[in-house]
Order: sequence, then C-alpha cells, then structure tokens
Amino acid sequence: MRGKARDWGTPNTCTIIFKQGKWYASVTVSCDPKRETGKEACGIDFGTHHALAFDDGTVIDNPRFLKQSQDKINKTAKKSRKKRAGKKGVKGSRRWKKAVRKIGKIQSLVGRQRQNWHHQVSTQIVSCNSLVATEKLNLKGMTKKAKRGSKRKRQKTGLNRSILDVGIGNLKSLIKSKVTEAGGFYIEVPTRKVKPSQTCPNCGHQKKKTLAERQHNCEKCLYSCDRDVASAQVCLNWARGQELSSLDVESPSSTLCGSMRQLGAKKHNNAKKRQKHLAQQSG
Ligand SMILES: [Zn+2]
Repeated sequence: MRGKARDWGTPNTCTIIFKQGKWYASVTVSCDPKRETGKEACGIDFGTHHALAFDDGTVIDNPRFLKQSQDKINKTAKKSRKKRAGKKGVKGSRRWKKAVRKIGKIQSLVGRQRQNWHHQVSTQIVSCNSLVATEKLNLKGMTKKAKRGSKRKRQKTGLNRSILDVGIGNLKSLIKSKVTEAGGFYIEVPTRKVKPSQTCPNCGHQKKKTLAERQHNCEKCLYSCDRDVASAQVCLNWARGQELSSLDVESPSSTLCGSMRQLGAKKHNNAKKRQKHLAQQSG
C-alpha cells in the first residue's frame, strides 16, 4: 500500500479487481472517520467559465483533463488499417483491439486525474469551512444534447463536454460528504426561489443576465464583481439567514471507508456482461 489510510479500523472485506490491465485491491474498514474543519463559511458557485467561484472572489479554473488527452484519443481512433468488430459476427482486427485498449487506458488516466483533483479541492475547502452553501444544479438539463439539425450543435456539444469534464456532480458529492463527516453543514440553495445568478448580493435587486454577461453590475447600488462570485455571495447570504436547526441537514454518521458501493455496482455489471456474452455464444 502506498501512503497510509487516513483512518484505520477493523478490516471487513477485501475486493480484488482487474481494470485496464492493472490489479487493484480495495479494503474496507469499519471505523469512525475524523476530519478537521475550520470555523469559516463559504459560498460556492459551480460554472463553466470558472469551475468554482467563491464568495470572497477567488476562482478555481477548470483543469480540462479530457481536453488535454482528446487529441491523443482522436489520433489513436483514426489510425488506418484496422477492422472494427461489427454486429454480424465480424471479428475486430488485432490493430483494432489494440487501439481500443489504448483508448481505454487514456480514458482511465483522465478519470484518475480528475478524481485526484476532486479530492484535493474538496479537502482544501472543508479544511477551513464548516459551512458550505451552494446552488442546486440541474446537470441533466445543463448537459442536454442539442436538437437535431440545430446550427449550434457543435457549440453545445463542446459546452456539454467542458461541463462534464469538470465532473461537478462528483465534486459536489465529495464536498458534501467531507463537510458532513467533519460535523459541518452543507446547504443547497433552492435555485428557483433565490435565483443566485440574477440577484444582487449587495442590495437584493433582481435582473436577468444573458449568458454572455460575465460581470455583475447592479444598476441600483452600483455593486460590481464577477458574475459567478456574485452568485456564490447570494448563496452564502441566503444560507446565513436560515436557522440551521430548521434545515434538512444530514447528521454526520460513521461511514465505511472505501467505495464499496461503486465496486459492488461494477461487479454486478460485469456479471451481467458475462451472462449476455454466454447467451450470445450458446445462441
Ligand atoms: Zn445592488
């Protein structure tokens, strides 16, 4: 094992998995995880312009892991002289299989880079903030495919890709679980009611912005700052005005370290695939 476990306890299970040509062992231990946290509070806005924007004006930009590797993937996929496996029992060529393996390797590298980044960012946030306020996001709506024949299809595809490349959903759930583990509060602002992107954090005046407007300029009190930062401030203001006891906040509970649920799902999927494969062979 490289490094050491953050919290150790009684080992319960050990699962060995084989993924992309490598072996992994996942050990779950039953323990009471402890996490240090600070006394500060912060509001966060997740966007596409900046991956994260905080209420104090700091922003974290999107690392774009997939974009970095996309060229390599495209090149590998394009290399000539390989036969794809088809539906009617067409076997793929050796070159094709090799290319598929290579692409898989790059993709899992991207996945690991992204996960590492998520852990670093979320740990850093939780280490000084025990109250995190953010907006509820409709990821499915945000990353909907463009309509057929739409002129902006390519643009929308690129936007979707960049939203998905950040992996906001995963990052948010990591922040949530880490804050809860530390005994802090994770608060999601009801978007429809509060409208963080349209409200002035200084005076509360509401005005719609177009997507192109990157700056918040209040026409009433002349308050001006980055659009995403303003939205994070609105979230934090709302959360500060709430009574914490009345909120539906999950209480910290002892959790199993290690992602057994994910592993379980993977095992289930693999079993399904094998069954399908066997059925095809016998049929
Ligand atoms: Zn204002």
